[in-house]
Amino acid sequence: MDYDLLLRGGRVVDGSGQPSYLADVAVKDGKIVELGRVRGSAEKTIDAQGLVVSPGFIDHHTHMDAQVFWDPYATSEPQHGITSIVTGNCGLTLAPVKHGDEDAILKNFVRVEAMPRHALEQGVPWGWHSYRDYLNRIEGRLGINVGGLVGHIAVRQYVMGEESVERQATPAEIQRMKALVLEGMEAGALGFSTNRNERHMREDGKPVPSRLASDEELFTLCDVLGEVNAGAFQSTLGQFTPKHFEMYNYLARRTQRPVIGQTVMYRPNAPKRWKEQLDAVMPTFRDGYRLYLRTHTVPNFRTFTLSNTQAFDEFPKWKHLMFMEIEARKKSLADPEVRQNLRADLADPRPTNFHRRWDLVTIEKAAKPENQKYVGKSVAEMAEMRGQDHLDAFLDLSLEENLETSFRNANAGGNPEAMREILQNPYVLVGNSDAGAHVQYNAEFGYGTTLLGLWARERGVLSLEQAVHKLTFQVATVYGITGRGLVQPGYAADLAVFNADTVNACEPEWADDYPAGTGRLIQRAIGVHYTIVNGKVICADGKITGELPGQVLRSSAYRRP
Ligand SMILES: [Zn+2]
Repeated sequence: MDYDLLLRGGRVVDGSGQPSYLADVAVKDGKIVELGRVRGSAEKTIDAQGLVVSPGFIDHHTHMDAQVFWDPYATSEPQHGITSIVTGNCGLTLAPVKHGDEDAILKNFVRVEAMPRHALEQGVPWGWHSYRDYLNRIEGRLGINVGGLVGHIAVRQYVMGEESVERQATPAEIQRMKALVLEGMEAGALGFSTNRNERHMREDGKPVPSRLASDEELFTLCDVLGEVNAGAFQSTLGQFTPKHFEMYNYLARRTQRPVIGQTVMYRPNAPKRWKEQLDAVMPTFRDGYRLYLRTHTVPNFRTFTLSNTQAFDEFPKWKHLMFMEIEARKKSLADPEVRQNLRADLADPRPTNFHRRWDLVTIEKAAKPENQKYVGKSVAEMAEMRGQDHLDAFLDLSLEENLETSFRNANAGGNPEAMREILQNPYVLVGNSDAGAHVQYNAEFGYGTTLLGLWARERGVLSLEQAVHKLTFQVATVYGITGRGLVQPGYAADLAVFNADTVNACEPEWADDYPAGTGRLIQRAIGVHYTIVNGKVICADGKITGELPGQVLRSSAYRRP
């Protein structure tokens, strides 16, 4: 046999953004070896006529650090043509970790990323210390390729213990943190991440450790990237301010490494912000430095109930309630005096992520038969039907249903004109799946299939070639994932084979497939036929095949002598 795998007659969209063309793709030893009219025989042949053959998609914003232990495919990523993921975003990693600190690390994941504690306790087989140990631990048993950033939260916890959530670091401690980041980079991390989001707390209500870091601490740790000349810096900073852009810009210049700033999207409560954000990154690129923003392609809808939500964490009175036991919470929500406080809290005019618009919060599921008439209506409409004030109607309905009413909050995205400009902007990275996080509220594995189906095919905002480029080669270059992201001889045979006429994401659905019998949302796709990692099919028509060809993706700092 000449080849291990041959894809016949597909339309190659090669990831570069150039026009697509018809070609066979031949694979040997995990690499693409021939492209064009390929003669010769292969172990396995796939008829790709009528289908697109593109590089596998790279999901650069995930929190799959834990899930890969019990699910080496990081499902539902492969179902959407994703062949590589980046973990360790937003400052959160499972390494480095000191023996005895494991639970302190979990506390961050449980609250910030809303992961079920029982699943993490049962599913994470601790036992490593360094970042290198962690990567070694996952290597060799992966279905999908996994690269990771070193997280500031873990690094700070390692050096400062419990004081990491209480005070600033001393110069000596900063130097020790710096050594840990360097160790991670030399182990092959794809970069470093931090978290200064004012809404991000641990399970016990304390701020995540990285929020206590001074600028000096953060800059010193970022310097490692410049010093090893590898890796990207990613951060989550919460509410947008021009100051954030000063900092991003400064770091892009100081390190000469790619900086991935915060999310840009259309927000109904700040309709001009996305434009200001796009304008703010222009000067950095003009001067020759790299500062990217990332965007959601999935209009951002979040489901919540008042028994389990982070939707109101920006409002101190609300947040206090949401940390109460359920029975006490119900009593408080019924108390007119408490309601006055909640109302005042929402009326405070400072900018927040939650838009405070009851016409944008809809009732997704009602628990009781008599309340089914409200399903699909906004809280504003429901309040009108009940002849009540908005807030009272919202709280009363929830209380009548033992806080089980499920609401859907349309927070952002969706504005086609804004999305056109955002997606076409060369400084915007697509992909904010947050996969592995908020697993019981949301599933956005389909950010790529949504880009291809909704924004490229249906709305014509991007060409197919541009959309594929955004999902593949652009991400590979920013994160320094070399040898992937293009359909080219010599490149890894990470491939997605899909039907451009039908590709799309399905609505998320519930599955009880997490450890300790916990459930989460998964998501299927339409039109994705094969997902191929290092030359092996890991997913065919939505079904996982059982092959384990995934590799740990390591930066150039690892390969350097
Ligand atoms: Zn994140």
